[in-house]
Amino acid sequence: MRIFGKGFNFGQDGPGNRLVYHLQGCNMRCPWCSNPEGMSSPGGTELSVDEIVRECARSRAMFFSGGGVTFTGGEATLWGDELILLLTRLQELGIHTAIETNGTSPRLGEIAEHVDYLIMDIKHYDAVEHLRYTAVPIEAVRNNYELLCRAKRQLHIRIPLINGVNSDDPEAFAEYLASYRSDSAVYEILPYHEYGKDKWKTEYTVKNGFVSREQVAALEGALKERGLKTITT
Ligand code: SF4
Repeated sequence: MRIFGKGFNFGQDGPGNRLVYHLQGCNMRCPWCSNPEGMSSPGGTELSVDEIVRECARSRAMFFSGGGVTFTGGEATLWGDELILLLTRLQELGIHTAIETNGTSPRLGEIAEHVDYLIMDIKHYDAVEHLRYTAVPIEAVRNNYELLCRAKRQLHIRIPLINGVNSDDPEAFAEYLASYRSDSAVYEILPYHEYGKDKWKTEYTVKNGFVSREQVAALEGALKERGLKTITT
Protein backbone atom coordinates (compact mmCIF):
# COMPACT_ATOMS: atom_id res chain seq x y z
CA MET A 1 0.00 0.00 0.00
CA ARG A 2 1.20 3.53 -0.59
CA ILE A 3 0.95 6.19 2.10
CA PHE A 4 1.47 9.91 1.47
CA GLY A 5 0.97 11.10 5.03
CA LYS A 6 0.40 9.86 8.57
CA GLY A 7 0.12 11.34 12.02
CA PHE A 8 -1.93 11.49 15.20
CA ASN A 9 -4.97 13.68 15.76
CA PHE A 10 -7.60 13.78 18.46
CA GLY A 11 -11.29 13.37 17.65
CA GLN A 12 -11.12 14.67 14.08
CA ASP A 13 -11.25 11.44 12.12
CA GLY A 14 -13.11 9.19 14.52
CA PRO A 15 -13.27 8.94 18.30
CA GLY A 16 -10.34 9.56 20.65
CA ASN A 17 -6.66 9.82 19.79
CA ARG A 18 -6.00 8.26 16.41
CA LEU A 19 -3.17 7.32 14.12
CA VAL A 20 -4.36 8.52 10.71
CA TYR A 21 -2.95 7.08 7.47
CA HIS A 22 -3.46 8.91 4.17
CA LEU A 23 -3.57 6.34 1.40
CA GLN A 24 -2.44 7.34 -2.07
CA GLY A 25 -4.87 7.76 -4.99
CA CYS A 26 -8.39 9.11 -5.45
CA ASN A 27 -11.08 8.65 -8.09
CA MET A 28 -12.59 12.10 -7.46
CA ARG A 29 -11.15 15.42 -8.60
CA CYS A 30 -12.59 17.94 -6.13
CA PRO A 31 -11.14 21.39 -6.87
CA TRP A 32 -11.07 22.22 -3.13
CA CYS A 33 -9.09 19.08 -2.19
CA SER A 34 -6.75 19.79 0.71
CA ASN A 35 -4.52 16.82 -0.20
CA PRO A 36 -3.98 17.16 -3.97
CA GLU A 37 -0.67 15.30 -3.62
CA GLY A 38 -2.72 12.21 -2.76
CA MET A 39 -4.99 12.30 -5.81
CA SER A 40 -2.86 10.58 -8.43
CA SER A 41 -2.14 6.87 -8.18
CA PRO A 42 1.67 7.02 -8.25
CA GLY A 43 3.49 8.56 -5.30
CA GLY A 44 3.65 8.02 -1.56
CA THR A 45 5.76 5.56 0.39
CA GLU A 46 5.25 1.82 -0.02
CA LEU A 47 4.31 -0.02 3.19
CA SER A 48 3.12 -3.60 3.39
CA VAL A 49 0.04 -4.67 5.38
CA ASP A 50 2.41 -6.36 7.86
CA GLU A 51 4.44 -3.20 8.32
CA ILE A 52 1.34 -1.08 8.96
CA VAL A 53 -0.08 -3.66 11.40
CA ARG A 54 3.23 -3.72 13.32
CA GLU A 55 3.36 0.08 13.42
CA CYS A 56 -0.22 0.26 14.74
CA ALA A 57 0.43 -2.44 17.35
CA ARG A 58 3.49 -0.50 18.57
CA SER A 59 1.36 2.68 18.84
CA ARG A 60 -1.36 1.06 20.98
CA ALA A 61 -0.53 3.11 24.09
CA MET A 62 -1.40 6.24 22.13
CA PHE A 63 -4.97 5.13 21.33
CA PHE A 64 -6.48 6.69 24.43
CA SER A 65 -10.06 7.95 24.88
CA GLY A 66 -11.47 5.25 22.61
CA GLY A 67 -8.97 5.97 19.83
CA GLY A 68 -7.40 3.72 17.23
CA VAL A 69 -6.44 3.85 13.57
CA THR A 70 -8.10 5.74 10.70
CA PHE A 71 -7.51 5.25 6.98
CA THR A 72 -8.29 8.21 4.77
CA GLY A 73 -6.82 9.57 1.57
CA GLY A 74 -6.95 10.15 -1.15
CA GLU A 75 -9.57 7.45 -1.18
CA ALA A 76 -8.75 4.55 1.12
CA THR A 77 -11.32 2.16 -0.40
CA LEU A 78 -9.40 2.08 -3.71
CA TRP A 79 -7.04 -0.31 -1.88
CA GLY A 80 -9.86 -2.92 -1.78
CA ASP A 81 -8.49 -6.33 -0.76
CA GLU A 82 -5.41 -4.96 0.97
CA LEU A 83 -7.53 -2.53 2.99
CA ILE A 84 -9.91 -5.33 4.02
CA LEU A 85 -6.97 -7.51 5.07
CA LEU A 86 -5.45 -4.65 7.04
CA LEU A 87 -8.72 -3.79 8.80
CA THR A 88 -9.32 -7.45 9.63
CA ARG A 89 -5.83 -7.86 11.12
CA LEU A 90 -6.26 -4.72 13.25
CA GLN A 91 -9.66 -5.87 14.49
CA GLU A 92 -8.14 -9.23 15.43
CA LEU A 93 -5.68 -7.30 17.59
CA GLY A 94 -8.56 -5.43 19.21
CA ILE A 95 -7.54 -2.11 17.66
CA HIS A 96 -10.42 0.28 16.88
CA THR A 97 -10.66 1.00 13.13
CA ALA A 98 -12.13 3.87 11.14
CA ILE A 99 -12.17 5.00 7.53
CA GLU A 100 -13.03 8.27 5.89
CA THR A 101 -14.37 7.68 2.38
CA ASN A 102 -15.85 9.63 -0.51
CA GLY A 103 -18.54 6.94 -0.61
CA THR A 104 -18.06 5.78 -4.21
CA SER A 105 -16.70 2.27 -3.78
CA PRO A 106 -18.97 -0.53 -5.02
CA ARG A 107 -17.34 -2.59 -2.23
CA LEU A 108 -18.13 -0.14 0.58
CA GLY A 109 -20.75 -2.41 2.17
CA GLU A 110 -18.19 -5.22 2.36
CA ILE A 111 -15.42 -2.93 3.63
CA ALA A 112 -17.77 -1.43 6.23
CA GLU A 113 -18.13 -4.83 7.88
CA HIS A 114 -14.50 -4.51 9.00
CA VAL A 115 -14.77 -0.92 10.20
CA ASP A 116 -15.81 0.22 13.67
CA TYR A 117 -16.37 3.87 12.73
CA LEU A 118 -17.31 5.01 9.22
CA ILE A 119 -17.06 8.59 8.00
CA MET A 120 -18.50 9.26 4.54
CA ASP A 121 -18.39 12.55 2.68
CA ILE A 122 -21.41 13.79 0.76
CA LYS A 123 -20.36 16.69 -1.41
CA HIS A 124 -23.46 17.57 -3.42
CA TYR A 125 -27.17 16.89 -3.72
CA ASP A 126 -27.54 17.73 -7.40
CA ALA A 127 -26.52 15.09 -9.96
CA VAL A 128 -25.21 17.52 -12.59
CA GLU A 129 -23.20 19.58 -10.10
CA HIS A 130 -21.88 16.46 -8.37
CA LEU A 131 -20.44 15.18 -11.63
CA ARG A 132 -19.13 18.62 -12.54
CA TYR A 133 -17.27 19.17 -9.29
CA THR A 134 -16.08 15.66 -8.42
CA ALA A 135 -15.89 13.98 -11.85
CA VAL A 136 -17.89 11.03 -10.43
CA PRO A 137 -21.65 10.40 -10.92
CA ILE A 138 -23.78 10.97 -7.83
CA GLU A 139 -25.34 7.48 -8.01
CA ALA A 140 -22.23 5.77 -6.64
CA VAL A 141 -22.47 7.81 -3.45
CA ARG A 142 -26.27 7.72 -3.24
CA ASN A 143 -26.38 3.93 -3.52
CA ASN A 144 -23.90 3.54 -0.66
CA TYR A 145 -25.70 6.13 1.45
CA GLU A 146 -28.94 4.20 1.02
CA LEU A 147 -27.23 0.88 1.74
CA LEU A 148 -25.56 2.12 4.93
CA CYS A 149 -28.74 3.81 6.18
CA ARG A 150 -30.76 0.66 5.55
CA ALA A 151 -28.15 -1.37 7.43
CA LYS A 152 -28.70 1.03 10.35
CA ARG A 153 -25.00 0.96 11.08
CA GLN A 154 -23.13 3.83 12.72
CA LEU A 155 -22.56 6.45 10.03
CA HIS A 156 -20.87 9.83 10.23
CA ILE A 157 -21.76 11.94 7.18
CA ARG A 158 -19.38 14.81 6.54
CA ILE A 159 -20.51 17.70 4.32
CA PRO A 160 -17.83 20.09 3.07
CA LEU A 161 -19.86 23.32 2.72
CA ILE A 162 -18.45 25.57 0.03
CA ASN A 163 -19.80 28.92 -1.06
CA GLY A 164 -20.89 28.90 -4.70
CA VAL A 165 -20.57 25.10 -4.93
CA ASN A 166 -23.15 23.50 -2.64
CA SER A 167 -24.36 26.23 -0.25
CA ASP A 168 -27.05 27.90 -2.34
CA ASP A 169 -30.00 25.67 -1.52
CA PRO A 170 -29.78 24.26 2.03
CA GLU A 171 -33.37 22.99 1.86
CA ALA A 172 -32.61 20.91 -1.24
CA PHE A 173 -29.41 19.57 0.36
CA ALA A 174 -31.24 18.59 3.55
CA GLU A 175 -34.12 17.08 1.58
CA TYR A 176 -31.68 14.95 -0.38
CA LEU A 177 -29.99 13.72 2.80
CA ALA A 178 -33.33 13.05 4.48
CA SER A 179 -34.48 10.88 1.59
CA TYR A 180 -32.77 7.98 3.38
CA ARG A 181 -32.54 8.08 7.11
CA SER A 182 -31.18 6.11 9.97
CA ASP A 183 -31.20 6.76 13.69
CA SER A 184 -27.54 5.73 13.68
CA ALA A 185 -26.43 8.51 11.30
CA VAL A 186 -24.97 11.85 12.37
CA TYR A 187 -24.18 14.81 10.12
CA GLU A 188 -21.20 17.15 10.35
CA ILE A 189 -20.93 20.35 8.35
CA LEU A 190 -17.33 21.21 7.55
CA PRO A 191 -17.07 24.86 6.48
CA TYR A 192 -14.72 25.43 3.54
CA HIS A 193 -11.05 26.09 4.32
CA GLU A 194 -8.03 26.66 2.13
CA TYR A 195 -5.50 24.44 3.89
CA GLY A 196 -4.46 22.66 0.70
CA LYS A 197 -4.42 25.67 -1.62
CA ASP A 198 -0.64 26.12 -1.69
CA LYS A 199 -0.10 22.44 -2.46
CA TRP A 200 -1.87 22.64 -5.84
CA LYS A 201 0.56 22.48 -8.75
CA THR A 202 -2.17 23.46 -11.23
CA GLU A 203 -4.50 26.45 -10.90
CA TYR A 204 -6.62 26.47 -7.73
CA THR A 205 -10.05 27.17 -9.18
CA VAL A 206 -12.23 27.68 -6.09
CA LYS A 207 -12.91 31.40 -5.65
CA ASN A 208 -14.71 32.90 -2.64
CA GLY A 209 -15.38 29.46 -1.19
CA PHE A 210 -15.67 30.58 2.44
CA VAL A 211 -19.15 30.25 3.92
CA SER A 212 -20.69 32.58 6.48
CA ARG A 213 -21.99 31.53 9.87
CA GLU A 214 -25.49 32.13 8.48
CA GLN A 215 -24.92 29.70 5.60
CA VAL A 216 -23.76 27.00 8.00
CA ALA A 217 -26.70 27.71 10.32
CA ALA A 218 -29.14 27.52 7.39
CA LEU A 219 -28.02 24.01 6.45
CA GLU A 220 -27.83 22.92 10.07
CA GLY A 221 -31.36 24.22 10.65
CA ALA A 222 -32.68 22.48 7.53
CA LEU A 223 -31.13 19.17 8.67
CA LYS A 224 -32.53 19.49 12.18
CA GLU A 225 -35.98 20.36 10.87
CA ARG A 226 -35.98 16.99 9.14
CA GLY A 227 -34.91 15.18 12.29
CA LEU A 228 -31.29 14.57 11.23
CA LYS A 229 -28.72 14.70 14.04
CA THR A 230 -25.93 17.22 13.59
CA ILE A 231 -22.54 17.12 15.31
CA THR A 232 -19.39 19.24 15.38
CA THR A 233 -15.90 17.80 15.83
S1 SF4 B 1 -12.64 12.89 -2.56
FE1 SF4 B 1 -11.35 13.82 -0.96
S2 SF4 B 1 -9.28 13.18 -1.48
FE2 SF4 B 1 -10.53 12.82 -3.30
S3 SF4 B 1 -10.28 14.67 -4.55
FE3 SF4 B 1 -12.12 14.93 -3.28
S4 SF4 B 1 -11.43 16.00 -1.43
FE4 SF4 B 1 -9.59 15.14 -2.46
